[in-house]
Amino acid sequence: MQEALLTPYPFIKVALPVPMRTLFDYKVPKAIALRHELAPGMRVKVPFGKSTRLGVIVSLSDTSDWDPEQVKPLTSLHDKSPVITAELMALCEWAARYYHHPIGDVIFHALPVLLRKGENAEFRTENWWFTTPQGQILPLEQLSRAPRQQDFLKAVQQHPNGLSQHAASVLDLAPNAGKSLEEKGLLRREPRAFNKGGERHAHQTQVPPTLNPEQSRATEQLLDHRKHFHVALLDGVTGSGKTEVFLRLMARLIEEDKQILVMVPEIGLTPQTLKRFENRFNTDIVLMHSNMSDRERLDAWLLAASGHAKIIIGTRSAAFIPAPNLGLIVIDEEHDSSYKQHEGFRYHARDLAIKRAQALDIPVLLASATPSYESLTNALQKRFAWLKLRQRAGNAHIPQMERVDLRGKTLVHGFSEHALASMKLCLERKEQVLVFLNRRGYAPTLMCHQCGWIAACDHCDVNLTVHKRANKLHCHHCDTQKALLQTCPECQSEELFTVGEGTEQIETQLSTLFKDTPILRIDRDSTQRKFAMAKLTQKIHEHDQAILIGTQMLAKGHHFPNVTLVIIMDADAGLFSSDFRGMERTAQLITQVAGRAGRAKKPGHVLLQTYHPDHAAIECLCTLGYEHFAIDGLAERKSLALPPFYHQVIVRAESGNEQEAMQLLAAMRNDLEPYFAKEVYLVGPYAAIIVRKAGQHRALISIKAAQRAPLHQTVQIMTQWLEHATRQHKIRFAIDVDPLET
Ligand code: ADP
Ligand code: ZN
Ligand code: ZN
Repeated sequence: MQEALLTPYPFIKVALPVPMRTLFDYKVPKAIALRHELAPGMRVKVPFGKSTRLGVIVSLSDTSDWDPEQVKPLTSLHDKSPVITAELMALCEWAARYYHHPIGDVIFHALPVLLRKGENAEFRTENWWFTTPQGQILPLEQLSRAPRQQDFLKAVQQHPNGLSQHAASVLDLAPNAGKSLEEKGLLRREPRAFNKGGERHAHQTQVPPTLNPEQSRATEQLLDHRKHFHVALLDGVTGSGKTEVFLRLMARLIEEDKQILVMVPEIGLTPQTLKRFENRFNTDIVLMHSNMSDRERLDAWLLAASGHAKIIIGTRSAAFIPAPNLGLIVIDEEHDSSYKQHEGFRYHARDLAIKRAQALDIPVLLASATPSYESLTNALQKRFAWLKLRQRAGNAHIPQMERVDLRGKTLVHGFSEHALASMKLCLERKEQVLVFLNRRGYAPTLMCHQCGWIAACDHCDVNLTVHKRANKLHCHHCDTQKALLQTCPECQSEELFTVGEGTEQIETQLSTLFKDTPILRIDRDSTQRKFAMAKLTQKIHEHDQAILIGTQMLAKGHHFPNVTLVIIMDADAGLFSSDFRGMERTAQLITQVAGRAGRAKKPGHVLLQTYHPDHAAIECLCTLGYEHFAIDGLAERKSLALPPFYHQVIVRAESGNEQEAMQLLAAMRNDLEPYFAKEVYLVGPYAAIIVRKAGQHRALISIKAAQRAPLHQTVQIMTQWLEHATRQHKIRFAIDVDPLET
C-alpha cells in the first residue's frame, strides 16, 4: 500500500529575492512530501545557479510550465508554518503587480531582516532573575560594600514574579552584579520565552479629556463605521485633538479584542507619542522602526503575528506586519513623504495600507493637519469620509501668521530686526522660540575667495555641506565625508569662506547673541544617537525660556507647550522649485512648523521671513490657511493634467557611464512606441535634476494617463523590454509608480 503524502502536489512555485519578475518551479521530493505539509508562505531552501537560496513558497501546483525532468527538487523546508500569511501573500502579489516590482523582492521586503536571512520565526528565550529563599530575606545593608549588587538584589526582591534580563538592563543594573549574587546563592536564573512577558507595568490609565463638539462628531462617525472597510480623512488643524479622536476609536476596538496598526512617519515617532499611548492603554504595545536592532524588530513582528501585541506602532515597513486580529489601521501625518519608499521597491505605505484594509474589510483612518493633495481629492470626490476639526482643543488658539518683508533690510545672522526683537520679548516672558531652517550643517557651500573654487562631491553633482563641529565636508546625497579643507586645492589660497547658513551656524550665532539662554538644536546630526531625541525633548520641557533650532524634524508631531514664537527663517525655500509638488510641500512644512506655536494656553505667533511677501501662495497660506491653499493648488494641477488628476509612472535608469542610461531609455521608447496605449503621454528620456548621484548617471521617462489601465499596460511592456535589455549590461532600472520625486 502506498503511504499517504502530506503534500500531494509535485511542484511548488517559489519567490526568490532576485531582480526577476517571475516565480521559480521546484519539485517536492517524496521524502519531504511524506513528512511535511507544505503551504504557501513557508520558506524553503532551493538550488539556484551554483548555490542554494532561501525562497518563499507562493503556491503549490500539479504541473510545471517547464520540462518536469529539468525542474530541480527543493533542498529543505525551513518553516513549520507560513511566515507570510495568506492575507499578506495576496497583498504582496497585488503590490508586485501594481508597482511592477519583482515578486520575490516584494515578499522578502515584507519580512523582517532576520527572517530574510533564515532565522527561525520563533521567540528567543531570555533569562529571568529570581531571588532564592535566602536572597529574598537578606537584609540589603549586608551588601552595603557592594552597592551594585545591592541595587540588583533590591530590584529583584521588588519583583516577586521575576525580573527579565531586558528589564534589568532598562533599570541599568550591572550584569556582573547579578552573576555575583547568583554565585552567592542569593539569585537564580531561569530561561523563559521572550513573549511570556508580564513585564507591563500595571499603571494607572489616564482619564481622557471631554471631547469638544467637533471631536465628538468625528468620533461618533468613526465608531459607526468601525466594523467594515471605510476610509476617513481626519483633517484637523495642528493641536485640534486628532490624536484624542483616534485614541477613542482605538479604545473601543481594543475592548472588542482587535489589534490596531498605527503608522507614523519615519522620524515622527516621538517618545511623547509613545508615552501617550502607554498612559492611555493598559495593553501590549510594540514598536517597529528603523532605530531598532534586527532582533528587536523580529521580536516585535512575532508579538504582532502571535496576536500578543494589541497595538503596533510602526513606520513604513510596518504596513506588512502580520496581525491576525487586525481591526483598524491609523495613518498619522498621512501627507508625510517618508511613507513612500524612495529606492528599490518603491511602494507607498498609505496606499498599501488602504488596499490591505479593503481586503480585510476594516476601517482606515488618515490623520493630518495638512492632508496630501491625493487624499484631499479623494475626500472631495467622496471616496473618503472627510472629518474636519477646525478648532484647537482645550484652551489653545490657532497661531497668528505674520509675513516679515526682508527686501532691502539689513539682516543679522539671517534674522530681521523685527524677528530678533520678537525673540527677545518672547524670552523675557520666559517662553520659548522655535527657529526653523530646513538646512542642517554649518553652511551649504565652501568657496575660495581667490579663485572661486567650490567644494563639490566627487560622486554627485552637488556641493558639499560644511559641518564645522565635526570638522567635515559632507555630501547629503551620498553620505561621502571628507576632512574640512583649510587651503584651496586649486590655488592653495587659505582664504576659504562659507556661503549660506545651516542650523549649526544659527546655533553658534544665536549663542553669542543670547548668552544665558539655553539653545537646543534638533536635526539629523544632533539626534543620531539612541535616546538623543528623548534627552533633547526632556531638556526643552525642563527650561522655561529656550531657543529651539531645527529642521523639518521639528515639524513632526511634537508638543512643546511653552513655544509661543516660531520664526521661519526662509519661507521662500521651495517656492520656486522645479518639482510641481514644491508648493504643496512648502505649504505643508510651513503650516506644520507654525502649528508648534501656542499649543497650550499661551497664544502663539509665527513670523515668516520672505522676499516675496506678496507672492500669491504665501499670502493665501497666511491669510486663508492650508485648506484654501490646497484647493487652489488642486485646481491648478487639474488644469495642467498633473497628479492626482492624472496618474504617473516614472521609469528610471542609472549607470556609471555618462550616456548609457539615457541611451537605454531612448532605445526603449524607439522600439516600443508603436505598442504604447494611445491614451498615455510620454515625456523623455531626460536627465534627473541632480544627474549624477553616488557615481550613477540618472535618466528618466515620465508616463502619464487619466486612467490606470492603459498606463499599467504600457509600463508592463516597458518592464519586459528593460528586463531583457539590461540582462547583459550594468545598467539598473526602476519603475516608480505614483512617484513623489522627479
Ligand atoms: P493633534 O493630534 O490634532 O495635534 P492632540 O490630540 O495632540 O492634537 O491634542 C493637542 C493637545 O490638546 C493635547 O495636549 C491633548 O491632550 C489636548 N486635548 C485634546 N483634546 C482635548 C479636549 N477635548 N479637551 C482638552 N484638551 C484636549
Ligand atoms: Zn582657490
Ligand atoms: Zn555625494
